[in-house]
Amino acid sequence: MAVVTGGAQGIGLAIAKALVDQGARVVIGDANLDAARRAVEELGDESVVRAHRCDVRDSALFEQLLDTAEEAFGPLDILVNNAGLTRDATMRKMSEEDFDTVVAVHLKGTWNGTRAAAARMRERGTGVIVNISSMSGKVGNVGQTNYSAAKAGIVGLTKAAAKELAHKGIRVNAIQPGFIATPMTAAMPEHIKQQKAAEIPMGRVGDPAEIASVVVFLASDMSSYMTGAVLEVAGGRFM
Ligand code: NAD
Repeated sequence: MAVVTGGAQGIGLAIAKALVDQGARVVIGDANLDAARRAVEELGDESVVRAHRCDVRDSALFEQLLDTAEEAFGPLDILVNNAGLTRDATMRKMSEEDFDTVVAVHLKGTWNGTRAAAARMRERGTGVIVNISSMSGKVGNVGQTNYSAAKAGIVGLTKAAAKELAHKGIRVNAIQPGFIATPMTAAMPEHIKQQKAAEIPMGRVGDPAEIASVVVFLASDMSSYMTGAVLEVAGGRFM
């Protein structure tokens, strides 16, 4: 059974779909329950996919998500920490609240999930955790001191957790997507989108399915000797 946070739309929805297509049973944990329910309708019926409201910032709610998922579909095999949001502004204009919110959702949320999932997976001596970082955490983006810091933090968290959990049969890896067409990036001004797209060696933005297929690889035994890895999926941008 797999849990995907932020699976109601965008990259998370594509990940949930790819996992369902591979025969996994999936629980979508998302702050937006209505959107998560619509995603479930799109992906299948309740025998294979379910929605649960969860704010990943809250460790008790994360535990509740995993409890509900395990009650529905049995032991947790795969956790994808994907939930995210942006609150972009240069430091001159960014509020402290916007810094705290972005770090809390991405970094604390990923820590909450990794910790809660690892406790369950440790009991069974098996499990896979995939954390969604960003190329922004590698190169830093203007207007994203909060987001870049949180996404870089996810890299450190992934590697530290991978070392702590490897001998327990649990693998922890991260993906750094480049510019992917989702509701998050649709909100960007057109000229910025065009400017970013022009910097991509492959000459196009990525599709959410192109992140999802890498998640499937990291969740499968095809990557059985990989842990603590950070895979760039960015069409060659910022390599
Ligand atoms: P999106 O905004 O389209 O979807 C994000 C989902 O996360 C939404 O369904 C939202 O309701 C949910 N969410 C937000 N805060 C939450 C919380 N506190 N608890 C639970 N759910 C919450 O975003 P996306 O573009 O699909 O991004 C998915 C992930 O990929 C994010 O972590 C994002 O930072 C990362 N990413 C995206 C891109 C890109 O170009 N789109 C690039 C690099 C990394």
